[in-house]
Amino acid sequence: MSEVKRIVIVGGVAGGASAAARARRLSEDAIIIMFERGEHISFANCGLPYHIGGTIGDRKQLLVQTPESFYKRFRIDVRTHTEVVSINREKKEVSARNLTSGEEYVESYDCMILSPGAEPVRPPIPGLNSGFVFTLRSMEDMDAINNHIDINIPSDAVVVGGGYIGLEMVEALHNRGIEVTLVELASQVMVAADPEMTAPIKQELEHNGVVLHLNTSLTGVTEEDERAIAHLSTGETLRCDLIILAVGVKPETVLALEAGLDIGDRGGIKVDEHLRTSDPDIFAVGDAVEVTDLIGNFKTLIPLAGPASRQGRTTADIIFGRESEYKKTQGTAICKVFKTAIAMTGMNEKNLRKYGIDYEKVYIHPADHAGYYPGATPISLKLLFDPDDGKILGAQAAGRKGIDKRIDVLATAIRAGMTVYDLEHLELTYAPPFGSAKDPVNYAGFVAANVLKGDARICHIEDVNNPGDDRFLLDVRTIAEVKSGAIPGSYNIPVDELRERLEEVPRDKEILVYCLVGLRGYLACRILTQHGFKCSNFTGGYKTYSAFKEVMPEMFQDDSCGC
Ligand code: FAD
Repeated sequence: MSEVKRIVIVGGVAGGASAAARARRLSEDAIIIMFERGEHISFANCGLPYHIGGTIGDRKQLLVQTPESFYKRFRIDVRTHTEVVSINREKKEVSARNLTSGEEYVESYDCMILSPGAEPVRPPIPGLNSGFVFTLRSMEDMDAINNHIDINIPSDAVVVGGGYIGLEMVEALHNRGIEVTLVELASQVMVAADPEMTAPIKQELEHNGVVLHLNTSLTGVTEEDERAIAHLSTGETLRCDLIILAVGVKPETVLALEAGLDIGDRGGIKVDEHLRTSDPDIFAVGDAVEVTDLIGNFKTLIPLAGPASRQGRTTADIIFGRESEYKKTQGTAICKVFKTAIAMTGMNEKNLRKYGIDYEKVYIHPADHAGYYPGATPISLKLLFDPDDGKILGAQAAGRKGIDKRIDVLATAIRAGMTVYDLEHLELTYAPPFGSAKDPVNYAGFVAANVLKGDARICHIEDVNNPGDDRFLLDVRTIAEVKSGAIPGSYNIPVDELRERLEEVPRDKEILVYCLVGLRGYLACRILTQHGFKCSNFTGGYKTYSAFKEVMPEMFQDDSCGC
């Protein structure tokens, strides 16, 4: 039986509650005290936008555990409305303040787990203390937003920040009948993904009447005639009745800092692979800690519920002497915006470039299930991999259905250290309502492996956008497809006519081939290569070109179709 331990936990939601429950499962004898500043423990932060939007009707559904149920099931001593205000590491004591009574008292610990989370960033913008401005982190924040909507019946709202909380709030407010404007500092929404992969989300927002202000920041908030005015960096002003500030979160480190624990360069609590802080008796987990990126091995902040919960569990294992360690974070995430979703895992292209890691990439646009079975919808999938050994570095997908399962499979593949060659051999579920005999994940593996084996040379947006004089841009789609748009300067020979029309293709130039998604382009390349041409296929085809054009219009100067 484990030695009796007195464990103090700071923070009673994802990381803290997971650690507490696991600790009890490992030791019936431990004294476990969990402090939570707020009213609730173990609530579903991730569900908050869905209650505001009305999808989760019953507020109680968000309360996964209550202090009473947690005590009854796990005999955890939960102290809500109680903030841990300081740590005396020498004496191994914490001072806790009851926020209702103001009473302050001391509790001792053998070991402590910090899971204080991250707080919404509030930039120094004038007017943010207006009663029209809200952030969303807790049940209380959610209630405040709901009360404001119920009482004031807003007609217009501005959401500042296009990350996952901002995007989910856009949808939630839209569902409440409010006209929503989204203001985002970057040139794209969902900055965790590469820009071109967010095109379907941008289209979905616009399709639902959301007004987008990209490359724009909020510079101030004023009030007039019982409405708020959001002032933007473009000089525009937006009259509205509600402003949601969702510009990111920052680790809650004050307690750790004041206790003299090491804080990392990214501003999170420093922990080792056992989630130990610089004090061996204090562990820290969740949004407050810096994690190591699984692929890039650099320190980073990845505020997600899955890592926080797993870290909580791992910490309890370590405290009770189990061989365990936290095996880094890969940033697997998903966000639904109306009927479209975007998901990602591993490193994105922006970061691979930033950290100087060599990569190759392919894009595919298959259907989520067999095209002949009703209801198939397209998926856009980007796979990033090591150009030498084919190791998978990252993946992103956007679409209406089936992107969660593809990204989850790829997340598992990354965790297992698999290569694109391994993807070719994965045996995945298939029946027409669910997938295809060659699943999009297999298909991504085939395309990437073809590139590495030299069966298919590929080219990218920079090449087709600016082919120069020594390259010939060949569009192998049908004439009907070309009429609805083509890459400027391209010459059209439909793939089925290519063998008969080879004399139209110059032999003294490299041929850059494209079709709609890349498949016919590959076939055309195989034909051309075997006839002695030097040829590359534009990965992802015209769909990928259109996605870049949607999100990065500045890349494209000449819009005239020269075909
Ligand atoms: P938290 O869950 O934030 O818990 C920390 C708790 O510690 C807080 O309740 C705080 O009051 C308490 N605390 C802090 N300091 C003290 C103190 N000194 N004394 C006592 N108590 C203290 N993640 C996903 O993976 N998927 C999603 O879909 C998703 N959606 C989200 C939607 C919203 C609106 C929000 C806000 C977050 C969402 N997240 C999502 C992120 C996810 O909720 C967090 O990553 C996760 O909750 C982090 O867990 P944590 O234990 O580190 O912090």
